[in-house]
Amino acid sequence: MPETITPPKKFSLQEYKTEVHVDWCPGCGDFGILSSIQQAFFQLQIPPHRIAMISGIGCSGKTPHYVDTYGLHTLHGRALPVATGAKLANHQLTVVAVGGDGDGYGIGAGYFVNSGRRNLDMTYIVFNNGVYGLTKGQASPTLGKGLQTKSMPEPSIQEGVNPLAVALGAGYTWIGRGYALDVKSLVSLIVQAIQHKGTSFLDVFQTCPVYNDLRTKEWYAGDDIGRTRLRRLDADASWDPVVKDPANLDEVVQKKTRALQTSYETGDSLAVGLFYKIDLPTYDEQLAGKVPALKEHPLIDLPLYQRDVTPLFDELA
Ligand code: SF4
Repeated sequence: MPETITPPKKFSLQEYKTEVHVDWCPGCGDFGILSSIQQAFFQLQIPPHRIAMISGIGCSGKTPHYVDTYGLHTLHGRALPVATGAKLANHQLTVVAVGGDGDGYGIGAGYFVNSGRRNLDMTYIVFNNGVYGLTKGQASPTLGKGLQTKSMPEPSIQEGVNPLAVALGAGYTWIGRGYALDVKSLVSLIVQAIQHKGTSFLDVFQTCPVYNDLRTKEWYAGDDIGRTRLRRLDADASWDPVVKDPANLDEVVQKKTRALQTSYETGDSLAVGLFYKIDLPTYDEQLAGKVPALKEHPLIDLPLYQRDVTPLFDELA
C-alpha cells in the first residue's frame, strides 16, 4: 500500500476573522489596516494558533479582538514589551504588535526605541492618524506644528515626531510606511514585514474621519489638479533600500541617509513603501547561541521546573 500523504491544511481568509462586531467609526482607516493584516496572514498561510497579536490602548488597540489568533490587549504604550515577552517565551510564534501613534510614539516611546536595537524577529504596525481618537481627538506626537484639527482649541505649538527617522536611529532592520486605504500595497508591505527576520516597523498613514479633518482621504488623494500626495517608492527604479553587505558601514550609512531624507519629504510628496532593510542577527538567534536548548525547543517547552534554584535564593539571602 503506498503511503498516503495528507496535504497541509489550507486556511481560509475567514479563519483569520472573529465574529466580534467591529465597532470603529464608519469610514475609519483602521478597517483597511485590519483587512490587510488578515489578508497578509492568509497569504502567508500562518496557522492562526501560531500567531500572537499584541496591542496597546487606543482605537487600534481593538485589532486583536477582530483577528482570530492568540492576542492580548495590553496597557497604554505597552504593546512592544508584552510582544517581546511573548516572542522570548515562544520564539516559534509569529508575533505582531499593533498600536496607534500616541500609544507607540508618545506613551510607549522608550519601548519603541529599545525594541529597534534589540532586533527580535517580530513586527510592529503603527496606525498613525495624528490624533488620540479614542479620547476625542487631542494632538498626538505625529501632528505637525501649526496644525489644528477640529477638536483642538489652538494650533499645535509642538513639532511632530518623524517616526521613520526615530526607527532608523533606533536600529530597526526593516522600516516601511503604508497607507490604510491602499489595501493591496499594504498587504504586500505586511507580508514583507512578517517575512523579514528581525524587528520590522511599519508606520501606516491612517485616516480618522471623526477627529482629524486635515489628513482626510481627500487630502491624501491629492490636490485639485490631480496630483496624489503619496509617492510609491516601488515605482522609482533608482530606489534601492536593501543593504547588500551589512559589514560595509559606508553602504549602511548611505542607505540610512537616503531613507532619512525621504522620510522628511512632506506636503505634496509623502513616500510609501520599503524605506530600509538590512539582515542582521536577531536577538532570538543570539540567545539560542548562548542557550543551545532553545534551538530545538521554545522556552515554554523547556523543563525549567527541574532546575534547582536554591543556590540563587541562598545568594540573595
Ligand atoms: Fe477611527 Fe477616529 Fe473613530 Fe477612532 S475615533 S475609530 S480612529 S474614526
